[in-house]
This record gives sequence, C-alpha cells and structure tokens, in this order.
Amino acid sequence: MSHGGFDSNDRQAFRLAAEAAADYRQALEHTPIRANKTYDEMLDVFDEALPETGISSDEIITLLDEKGRDGLSDVCNPRFFGYVIGGGHPAAAAADMLVAAWNQNSPMLQVTPTAAALEELSRRWLLDILDLPRDASLGMTTGGTMANAVALAAARNEMLHRQGWDVEAKGLYGAPEIPVIVGAEAHSSIFSGLRLLGFGAERVLTVPADDQGRMQAAKLAEIVSGLDSAPIIVAQAGQINSGAIDPVTAIADIADSAGAWLHVDGAFGLWAHAHPDLKSQLKGVERAQSWIVDGHKWLQVTYDCGFVFVADRAAHVRAMGHSAAYLPNTGTMQDPGDFVPELSRRARGVPVWAVLKAFGRQGIIDLIGKNCRLARRMADALGRESGVHILNDVNLNQVTVAFGPEGEVGDEMTGRVLQAVQAEGVCYPSHGVWRGRKIMRLSVTGFATTDEDADRSVDAIIRAWRDDENRTRHKPTEHLQIMPDLEGQ
Ligand SMILES: *Cc1c(COP(=O)(O)O)cnc(C)c1O
Repeated sequence: MSHGGFDSNDRQAFRLAAEAAADYRQALEHTPIRANKTYDEMLDVFDEALPETGISSDEIITLLDEKGRDGLSDVCNPRFFGYVIGGGHPAAAAADMLVAAWNQNSPMLQVTPTAAALEELSRRWLLDILDLPRDASLGMTTGGTMANAVALAAARNEMLHRQGWDVEAKGLYGAPEIPVIVGAEAHSSIFSGLRLLGFGAERVLTVPADDQGRMQAAKLAEIVSGLDSAPIIVAQAGQINSGAIDPVTAIADIADSAGAWLHVDGAFGLWAHAHPDLKSQLKGVERAQSWIVDGHKWLQVTYDCGFVFVADRAAHVRAMGHSAAYLPNTGTMQDPGDFVPELSRRARGVPVWAVLKAFGRQGIIDLIGKNCRLARRMADALGRESGVHILNDVNLNQVTVAFGPEGEVGDEMTGRVLQAVQAEGVCYPSHGVWRGRKIMRLSVTGFATTDEDADRSVDAIIRAWRDDENRTRHKPTEHLQIMPDLEGQ
C-alpha cells in the first residue's frame, strides 16, 4: 500500500540499504583494500542504454549492493593509510541515512529548524574544542577546498572594504591590488580558491619553506616589509606530506604589524590545537582572522564536509550572504546559507553533531593522540629497517617513507614497493613526491586503527621491501608504474 509516495517496496528499499550498509562495514576486515575492478570494468558492469521504464526502489538497492561493491576503495578499513581520509564514523553514516530520508533543504533556519540548530550547536562545540574565538562564524562546506575559497573571499571583501572598495558590487575591475602571500609548500587547493576569486594563481608571493615544509617566518617578514599595502597571508597547519605546521606565532606577529588578514589552512593539522600535548605546535593560532578544517578527514564525518571559521562575522556574511526578496527575512539572525556559496544544501550539521556527540571532547582528544602515536610507532619500526628512510619529523599523523640503499634516491624502488604493498592489500599507503623524491605516504587518519593494525601494516611493508631488494639485486631495471594521482587529498 502506498502512503504519500512511499509504498512497501520503498520500505523494503530502506531496510535493504541499512542492512547492506551494515554488512559492508562489518566485512571491511577482508582484503584487498583497493577496488577489485577498474573504472572501465565498472562502466561495463553498469553499462546499458537509458532504461525506457523504471524499476522499484528495492530492486535498485539490491542491484547497487550486488554490483557496486567491486568498484569501492575500502577507505574505512583500519589499515587504509592513503591520502588523508577519515574513517566515516558509523554514527555519522547512520545519521546521514536519516538526513537523506529527511531531505531537508537547509539554507534557512526558519524552514529547517532541526538542521539549523544542529549546525549552530556544532559551531559552538567545534570552536570550543579547537579553542578558537567563540564568536567566530562557521560555514559548513563540501570540504577544505571550498572552505579555503570562502575564507579567502571574506579576506578579499574585508581588505578591499578597508580601502573603500565594495568588491561584491564592483568586482575587481579597477580595484586596488591586494598582495596574497602563501608558503612554498601550501596545498594545491589554495590556488583553486585564488583562481576562483580573481587573485590569479601566479600573482601570489611565495615564502620559501624549511626542510619540513614550514614557511620561514624571517623570509615572510622580508616580503611583507617590501609591500605598499596590507596583504592576505595564508599559513598552513599540517602539510599534506610531512604534517609540518607553520610557525604561527611568528607569522601572526608579522601579520599584526602589517595589518594583514591571516588565514590558516588547517585541513587536518588544526586538530593539534584540540590536544593538550600537541597544542603548543599551534601557539597563537587563535590570533588569525580565518581558519579552515575538514570534517571528513580527522574528525571522521562522512563525505563531504568542511568547516570555515571567520573571526569577523560581518566580513563573512558580506562575502557569502544570500539576499533575495522571496527568502524569509530572519532579521539579525543569520541563516546557515549566509556563510557558504550554495543556496540549496543538505543538512550538513546533522552528521557533524552526531560525530561530536559520539566522541565527546575526550574521545576526540584520544583519537588525535592515538593516531599521532601510531604514526610514530610505524615510523620508528620502519626506520629501524636498513634501506627504509623516514623523511619527515613525525609531529602529527603523517609519515613519508622512501626506499633504497643508503645514499641513493631510489624512486623506482619506492614505486615498486608501494605497488606491491597496495596489491597485496594488507594495508594501503599512497604515493607522493616530497622535496623532489618519490615517497610512500602513510596517513593515520581513521578512528579504528589499532596498534595491531599498525604492526601488521609495518610487517607487510617491510616484507614487500625485502622481496623487492632480493629480486632487484639480480635484475636492476624494472618498469615503474604507480597508482593514478588523487591530487592533494
Ligand atoms: C586535504 C587538504 C585540503 C583540501 O581539502 P578537501 O577537503 O580535500 O577539499 C586543503 N588543505 C590541506 C592542508 C589539506 O590537507
């Protein structure tokens, strides 16, 4: 029987989806972690002409469950160390099932009070645990890339506003020039934002980095002293390969004396500020004007989710606010949609609230501490093996590894060992380039990883390295093939 467009097949579809989702999560221990089938093979699996007639929802869920799994990368596996990817907390995943069913279009607080209230509560809780100014505004975005773009838009608005220029109305034609300064090891997504905002990726001033990838404050001071107008400075907390954190206090001092807007890209590294033992690495970060951190990385919110915080709420709203005659006027209260580029949007705050409620403050502190400890444990064990080199100081959850005899770069070996490890499937590190050298990168970002997972993974990596070393001792040249690049994740 049908009730308002929801019949017994639909009810069955909901049940099947929930069961299939739970089965998938419970089976994650099975290897290999990487997708069984390629993109082309998955196209074949689903390929057909547009169906002339439809089928019922429960049949669709059965098809998806049966056919879709082969093309999944099991990023929630506790031994997945690729890119920087969270484990998708079950509370968030389950809450997201409700979010999908509720289907709340959530830019306006009067229309979807539950969604807006949980977003506001998440703002308060996030600022509390991250220890940032409690009255900062929050925009919930699709991820770090868009969060950076929103922060840079607020910065652009404010820095031009101070010079009497309304960029939202007049655009950049004839506008005063605002210098933008980034570190040499800034994340690629910063440049997406700069391109989008008309700053131009090539117009930025770049500050050299040290051997860990940290912006050199003395060089920043030199650049700033040569400027005629106040700049936007982009600092980084958590370099994607090394995890390095820029010297925030020194940068904030320089920014303050120059009247700059300081933005901090802390997509994963900002979480150091939530942990008592790691907090000193980010001393002074609360002095910035804007910050971003991802939800879907270390916080374990399901994809996709990022946060942008702006100290000056008015600058944030001037850059992002939606105002149209047909939208309800909420007076002095700002709507969730006033802090992000989108108007229509899902109830993003619900899975965020669910994760924060599931962990609590201590749970988050324990998670951050554990992942950093496991990263060090893996780095220490790998570093004891001759021919395995740890290239970074493991200050957070990132480990950069290279392979090869002492004194040799060993790019080909590193590529082969990485491929062998990924193919075997006990664990999944990803690739990268660090200071001109190919690396295997381990990012301990999931919530479920245990000491035993770390040790098993180290064993698998060392085994692959020894196998390769034995083989290549007799046969020096081999073909190098690494997995395709998932730029900057
Ligand atoms: C991952 C990352 C980003 C981009 O975030 P997305 O959520 O992938 O869009 C930006 N900056 C840093 C430092 C990152 O690690």
